[in-house]
Amino acid sequence: MSRLTAGSQSSLREANKGLLVDTIKQFGGLTQVELADATGLSAATVSTLVKQLTESRLVEVRPTSRSGRRAQLVTLARATGLAAGVHVGHRSLRVLLSDFNREIVAEQSMPLPREHPMDTVLDRVALLIVDMLELVASSLDELAGIALGLPAPVDVSTGMLSVRGVLPGWDSEHIGEVMGKRLGRPVYVENDANLGALAQMTFGATHPYADSVYVRASYGTGAGVILGGRLHRGFGGTAGEIGHVQVDPYGHICRCGRRGCLDTVVGAEALLASLQTSHGPLTLRDVITRAVDGDPGCSRVLADAGRTIGRVVAGVCQAVNPQAVCVGGELADAGSVFLAPLAEAVQEHILPNRVAPMEVLASPLRGDEVAKGALVQVLDSTDLFAQGGDGQ
Ligand SMILES: [Zn+2]
Repeated sequence: MSRLTAGSQSSLREANKGLLVDTIKQFGGLTQVELADATGLSAATVSTLVKQLTESRLVEVRPTSRSGRRAQLVTLARATGLAAGVHVGHRSLRVLLSDFNREIVAEQSMPLPREHPMDTVLDRVALLIVDMLELVASSLDELAGIALGLPAPVDVSTGMLSVRGVLPGWDSEHIGEVMGKRLGRPVYVENDANLGALAQMTFGATHPYADSVYVRASYGTGAGVILGGRLHRGFGGTAGEIGHVQVDPYGHICRCGRRGCLDTVVGAEALLASLQTSHGPLTLRDVITRAVDGDPGCSRVLADAGRTIGRVVAGVCQAVNPQAVCVGGELADAGSVFLAPLAEAVQEHILPNRVAPMEVLASPLRGDEVAKGALVQVLDSTDLFAQGGDGQ
């Protein structure tokens, strides 16, 4: 320290302020004592820097209590802005707005038609976001960014789908750019299962683990892989695309152009087709509700799907050896009817590890993990300190 020049002293202080802001962003709100513990900075340094950050209106301090004792809770100031997390599903749209303390300030959902075209959906998303901002007395200027989760592999560097045919009507456009033009704010485009994995790691079932796999069993099936606490996208964003692992060499042709992919067996269309003769036309939601109510045919279809997905997930687990697998998506809403056969198949097909047995967990973030993961994406990608700090 004694050899540091005045310039490097001030850059050290800036770095420490950045560290404090990032830590508060990561944990939501922390007391000054907790901030010192989490950052390794001394209590005196934390106190001085929090005072400076309060003056530059990046953080706010309010009284709280910890273990019955009075303490000062440090949170990010509301003025730091908002984030929009958007989940575009096959049949529904979910939009969440949150502040930088990760508090959800507004939420909206709406159904989407089958095979929805990109332009119409992005128009709806843009309108919804503007409405929701208005609802919380905010505006686009305060929006730090928007993250869009899509049920298709995404090349995040271009914001384009990296495989053609998987999401018809969304193939040829630079989605991030199109959305960016509508709202004039930074846009991040990401695969839905990857965002689910981020949400589970940040505040869901896989939070305690450095290596985990999130499986999203919905109208199609995908997975998000977390390695060493970071999302592993792979070179072109197709890591974890388990919906396109071949499970039947004589099966139907998949949207991706190949034969017998997992999605041709457990995708919504396949599940509904197998119930057509016995049950007539149903929606995926009908099948899940009936299975929960004990309908043997619907239960059987979901149990078989669970087993088939479990075998493929076991292959992923064999490749990356995660500590835990977390399962979410609409099919997981059926509960043990679907999850138990899936977990059983995973355990049956991985090498039994005596040292560290792997866990298969249900998602605690039912229905919201993709939109919440999208919020995490925006919050993590925004450098608040560079944006709002006054450099003092
Ligand atoms: Zn395929």
